[in-house]
Amino acid sequence: MIISMKPGASREQIERVCERIREMDFEVRSIQGDERVVIAAVGLGNVTHAIEALRSVEGVENGVPISAPYKLVSRQVKDERTVVAVGQTSIGGGEFAIIAGPCSVETEEQIMACAAAVSAGGGRFLRGGAYKPRTSPYSFQGLEEEGLKLLRKAADEYDLSVVTEVMTLGNVQLVADYADVLQIGARNVQNFPLLKEIGATTSCPVMLKRGQSATIEEFLLSAEYIVTNGNPNVVLCERGIRTFESVTRNTLDINAVPVLNQLTHLPIILDPAHATGKRDLIPPLVRAAVAVGADGAMVEIHPDPERAWSDGAQSMTFDQFAKVMNDIEPYVELWKAGRPELVGLSA
Ligand code: PEP
Ligand code: MN
Repeated sequence: MIISMKPGASREQIERVCERIREMDFEVRSIQGDERVVIAAVGLGNVTHAIEALRSVEGVENGVPISAPYKLVSRQVKDERTVVAVGQTSIGGGEFAIIAGPCSVETEEQIMACAAAVSAGGGRFLRGGAYKPRTSPYSFQGLEEEGLKLLRKAADEYDLSVVTEVMTLGNVQLVADYADVLQIGARNVQNFPLLKEIGATTSCPVMLKRGQSATIEEFLLSAEYIVTNGNPNVVLCERGIRTFESVTRNTLDINAVPVLNQLTHLPIILDPAHATGKRDLIPPLVRAAVAVGADGAMVEIHPDPERAWSDGAQSMTFDQFAKVMNDIEPYVELWKAGRPELVGLSA
């Protein structure tokens, strides 16, 4: 539920309301606003009864239930968009975030070359999998901690932030020691113990990928798991869903961006590489990401895609990446100018 206080309500009145909320089996999860304070509470208590009781507490103007099944990630609770700070940069703020790198970290030479290319193109985030969720048990599974070390070294050399996947509960701390953003892959979007652990034990930013068959509501409920367990630094990533279409690896759900911008305050990254599986389709879809109001795009690059140990077909060469970065520049300028309209804040 959301309790809005009267303008100028005193600190004591706000505290009294929070106390009453707790007495009724709810937890106060956010208190926003200075002049006009809005308190968001979640819990297992009886909402109708609680709202009725709270309306009679001094200083309270109104109370409404949060109608969405997800609460803290909903724009009903917080209309202002979340900016997730990552090192010297951020996702969801004034910059269109480009996350680029190989599918998997393979060798020092490979990841160093990728970091140089990301930096030269103006990207701020280096991606690369050290723990790889592969469909086949016979496919390359990642270099594990050695991969994390190489990734960190390459990112530090070029002043980039590391985005890398954590697959298991037992590895959260280890991966967080090397990463700036913890990626949760499509296959783990409903690994609830993992989501809870990442929520409860780290404040490291998280990029949660949409599952191949996750509805938008399920996707947001997964994000809610992380936030309600204590980590508010969540970025969403639309990476394509499985449909009847078989020409592309998945189908990029471009609808998801404006829909999510209506429903949640969390930033959204588009991943056209995993959505299509084809490098030639990446440039127009990165432009689409800018145009549709995403907060950034994630792409895969490789010094020699034909020899990549995973996802070569969707990995761009460095030249292709440089061209994409160059081509999107005017679009990104428009994006910066039209940001409030793009994310539906000026309606
Ligand atoms: C990835 O980004 O490396 C990846 C495995 O993607 P997804 O989880 O979306 O399949
Ligand atoms: Mn990949």
